[in-house]
Formats: sequence, structure tokens, C-alpha cells
Amino acid sequence: MEDLFGDFVIVGGGIAAVSCAQELSSLVPANASIIVVSAHALVKAASNWRQVGRVAESFDVTEQKATSIFADYPNITVVPAKVASLDYSSKCVRLDGGGVVRFKKLCIATGARPKMQFESDFVLAIRDTETVKTFQRRLKDAKRIVIVGNGGIATELVYGLRNVDIIWAVKHSSISATFFDAGAGQFFLPELMQPSHDNEATAMKRLKYTTDSPAVDTAASPSITGSALGPDWSTNVEIKGAAMGRHVRVVYGVELDAIVSPADFRGSQSRITPLPTEFEEKQEWNVYVKLSNGEIYGCDLIVSAIGVDPNSELWTDGNPTLKVASDGGLEVNEQMETSLSGVYAAGDVCTTGWSPAPHWMQMRLWTQARQMGAYAARCMAASNPMQLDICFEIFTHVTSFFGLKVILLGKYNGQGLGAGCHALLRVQNGEEYVKVLVEDGRVHGAVLVGETDLEETLENLILNQTDISHIEDGLLDPSIDIEDYFD
Ligand code: FAD
Repeated sequence: MEDLFGDFVIVGGGIAAVSCAQELSSLVPANASIIVVSAHALVKAASNWRQVGRVAESFDVTEQKATSIFADYPNITVVPAKVASLDYSSKCVRLDGGGVVRFKKLCIATGARPKMQFESDFVLAIRDTETVKTFQRRLKDAKRIVIVGNGGIATELVYGLRNVDIIWAVKHSSISATFFDAGAGQFFLPELMQPSHDNEATAMKRLKYTTDSPAVDTAASPSITGSALGPDWSTNVEIKGAAMGRHVRVVYGVELDAIVSPADFRGSQSRITPLPTEFEEKQEWNVYVKLSNGEIYGCDLIVSAIGVDPNSELWTDGNPTLKVASDGGLEVNEQMETSLSGVYAAGDVCTTGWSPAPHWMQMRLWTQARQMGAYAARCMAASNPMQLDICFEIFTHVTSFFGLKVILLGKYNGQGLGAGCHALLRVQNGEEYVKVLVEDGRVHGAVLVGETDLEETLENLILNQTDISHIEDGLLDPSIDIEDYFD
């Protein structure tokens, strides 16, 4: 392959890379060349973008061939290849299998991969469309699975799984702790525990899978994953096991201690932890898990959903001055630029290095990948430093869990708030859960579940730090229109 040159080169095919390329295309002169190097022919793009508040946004995601997503962008060229290394002194990336792409400015958007605590044929992680297909295939014959992790992926999985018994090992004292406190966890628990449910009725038909094959076969190239999945992935695919129904046991306050083969289990003096009789038991399971509280369960499959590690090693190899944050992400400054001048990073692969605004924190989420990609593009195109985008002023996350709309704002889980912080609550079982965190007469965070219609007002109260002490008691009173009050 002949050497290529792009004024702007973006590596990745996830939401960060695509939003960066699309934004750049609209900002730079028509004769400026933009090259997207993506290991997969399928890329992800945001569509039906909707402003939910001043910063909060929601959007759908489509997964399509890169060539069709960029068809209306004449200055974008797609190179379907895996980047093997960065040669910073020559300002180029070298491609696997040969070939070089030179750049003036580079944006790294290679995402992250699931953290794997144990390697075993019976441990799977869910990341992209390919891993979902593998999971579906393996699940077909499974009667019991163990899920380890307490974030969004584990939560969606427990909710979406049918015809399989589930042991859910969570390290906190309540479920879904990444997003919810114990109160909200309790609100969702009855929905999760249902012996069977038809989640198709509430499916949010948003993530659209195509049947095109990836450019690089993930089976042949396991170290490169496709783009990460996003909201509602579990409601759009059938994830069904071989049991008669589903039963869920949540084991709180534990981590995975060990994975034991059937032979080692047989040879040990250990006993499996008894489960209620509605759980199907087998003479011998594919694998056994030992939890940190000493409990032992047999299962057919283990799903590890304990977080992600940024795909940064490829970039740091041979570039010792490229700064890496303690979580393994490429550290970026307020211009989304890494420690190498002219090299930017966005999305799951990066870690923000600036002091965050009081109500913002980085989380490796789809919304932030889109916002960072677009903002990185503006920084790359600008001749002078950009002022940090308003999206970094307040944390916002609009998603859905268990078929209910969920909006998280600011320090929604009380992150970093002091002892003087207290919560205002409004709960209607199964329909609505509203929690507003107040400190010093100001709102600092909120969890809104259901059709609360409060998002815009609460986002403004957090952003403006309005003094609410005089109306705090009535803030969540449904008979008072607080929107009018603050107009
Ligand atoms: P990715 O989407 O991971 O894309 C990285 C891209 O880089 C891929 O296309 C990959 O093929 C490419 N690449 C990697 N290495 C190379 C290389 N060497 N050369 C060329 N290309 C390369 N977020 C939410 O906000 N809400 C949710 O409900 C939600 N649910 C999720 C459920 C699941 C199962 C998962 C796995 C994630 C979920 N997320 C969710 C997280 C969200 O999907 C990610 O934060 C987001 O997609 C990250 O986007 P990205 O563009 O940074 O990285």
C-alpha cells in the first residue's frame, strides 16, 4: 500500500472517532484531507440527536459500514486497517501488514477493552457486536450463569436474560452501584427478580445491528475489539439460555476469588453453596466460582463485567514521553491534546488531566465519547486554544434501565459531597424514583427515573447553583410547578 497523507488522521471507528471526523469535516476547508483508520469496516454514529437540557443529550446509535456513514463527507477517506504503531518523530502511524499514514494532526480514539481478572474458556466479556454473538451462542445451552460486576453492563444483562438462572456477584451492598444508590437499587430490585419477563414489550429498538462482516476478523485478531456497544444493547438481541425459567440470586459485598475446574472441585473438600430448590442443580457444572465470602457456585458460563482498560499500550510503545494516567488512559489537557504536541485523544482511550468542574467527572460512557470526539475536532481545527466546552461543566447521562428512562445529573451519587449533604426523595413504586442531592441550600446532583419532567429545571439549578433553601420542602411536590417558580 502506498503511503497516505492526511491533514487530520483519526484512528478508531467508535462514537468518539466518528463524531470527531464528522465535526472536523464541517469545520475545515474542503481541500483539507481527513483520514479515518478503523480496524473494522463497521463504525458507530450518533443519530436522532436530541437536546434534553442545556447540556444533557440523548441519541440513537447506528452501526454501519464506514463508507456509508461518511458517504456525504467528501473530504473524509476511510482506511480499513489496524494501526500497529505510532512513529511520532516521522509524524506517521504504521499499519499492520504494511503501509504508512502520515499526519499533521492525529486523534487517537481506540476505545477500551473489558478488564479480565481471570482467563478461562468459560469466562466471557461483553464489549461489541461480535462478543454478543459469541455470548448468545454459548448461552443457548446454559442453565446457570454467574455475572460478576455491578455497572451498567451487568445490570442490563441481568434484566435482559431469559431462561437461565443467574448468580449475580456484586462488590457493593446494593445492585447497580455505579449508577444508583441503595435506595434506587431497591426500587429496581423487584423488576430484576421477576422469574420471567417479556422485555420485548419495553424494548427501545435503538441500537441497529447490521449483518455486514467486519473488515478485520475479530476471531483471528482477538486483541482488537469492534466499537463498544451502547444503551439498550440487551433489549435488541435475544439472550436466552436453556433453563425452564429464570431465577436470580444476588450475592452482595463480594468479588471473584477463584475459578475452579470440575476436576479440581471434585478433588477438593469444598461444598457448593446451597440454593433454593427453584434453582436447577447439575451433577457437574462446566466451571465453579469461589467468591470472596467463601461461597462456591457451579455454572455453565461466567460473564465478567468489572470495567474496562483503555487501549493505550499501542501508543505508548516506543513513545515514552506520551503521558499515561493512573487508570491507563492517555492523559489529555483542556484542548484534548496528549503530552505529544499535535496528538489528541478522545473517548474511552483518554483520561482528562485537568481539574474538573465541581459537578463534572469523567466516566467511560457513550455520551462523553461523542462529546469528547466533537470537542477534540474543534480543538484540532482551531488556530488558538479553545475554551473548555460547556459539556464539561456538568455530568449528564441519559439512558434507560429496565425499560424506564434514567437521567443522572451532576454528583448524582453524592460523589465528593460532604456530611452536610442530604437527599430529597420522591418515589412511586415501579414508576418514578427522584433523588435530589442538596448541600448548603444548593442542588449538586440528581437521579431521575421515569417520566419526571424535572431534568431541565434540575440541570439549571445545578449549573447556576441557585439558592433553593426557601423552597426546598416543596421542590419535589408534584402539585408545585417548580419550572414556573424559577422562570
Ligand atoms: P469504542 O467504541 O471502543 O471504539 C474504539 C474503536 O477503535 C473501535 O472501532 C476499534 O475497532 C478501533 N480500534 C481499536 N484499536 C485499533 C487499532 N489499533 N487500529 C485501528 N482501529 C482500532 N455507554 C453509555 O453511555 N450508555 C450505556 O448504556 C452503555 N452501555 C454499554 C454496554 C456495553 C455492553 C458496553 C461494552 C459499553 C457500554 N457503554 C455505554 C459504553 C460506551 O459504549 C463506550 O463508552 C463508548 O462506545 C466508547 O466509544 P469510543 O469511540 O471511545 O470507543
